[in-house]
Amino acid sequence: MAYVIAPPAAPSIPVAGGDARFPVRRIYCIGRNYAEHAREMGAVVDRGNPVFFTKPADAIVTDGADVPYPSATTDLHHEVEMVVALAAGGHDIAPAAALGTVFGYGVGLDLTRRDLQAAAKAKGLPWDTGKAFDHSAPVSALRPASEIGHPARGLLSLEVNGTLRQKTDIAEMVFDVASIIHELSKLFELAAGDLIFTGTPAGVAALARSDAFVARLDGVAELRGRIV
Ligand code: MN
Repeated sequence: MAYVIAPPAAPSIPVAGGDARFPVRRIYCIGRNYAEHAREMGAVVDRGNPVFFTKPADAIVTDGADVPYPSATTDLHHEVEMVVALAAGGHDIAPAAALGTVFGYGVGLDLTRRDLQAAAKAKGLPWDTGKAFDHSAPVSALRPASEIGHPARGLLSLEVNGTLRQKTDIAEMVFDVASIIHELSKLFELAAGDLIFTGTPAGVAALARSDAFVARLDGVAELRGRIV
């Protein structure tokens, strides 16, 4: 095959405990999936209508790498989230079949230009410039479900410079993992390689250059990085 330009590198993230990597096809995110966070954003949880948005696959930043402070914002926010990686997909996946599509789990940050997102919300405009920017999706190495099962509870937390900023139990999610996959698959044909960021708990706040972060999903994954 001849290409007119060099094909872009395929984004991928490590799988814990080996050399194999997980290739990233798409990144889906759900918003307002913890009631306390929806409240702090002045939003209402709608249990009938999940809020979805996307990030480009090459927004991935792997564990331990520096995160460049993005352009065009003075209010970069952290959102710690459990991340689900799919090994299979489809349309209209039944809730009972949904966990069968999961390869594994990790932890990530849905980095957000909060000022741009707020301006977009105020005007009823798309969230892309606030959410889908370069380096906006730091994510840990993945742990296969074949090793750890499908965690339905467990502590999700974020420390910045050694101070706890966000903490919840993933059991507090409004839409659990199976429900998220079910709902997303009504809107998009899901496929192997897709990542899903499952929403953030309360405590979102600003990050500054030189801040060091540690995101943890207990017993599953840890993500370390620095804003530069
Ligand atoms: Mn989020």
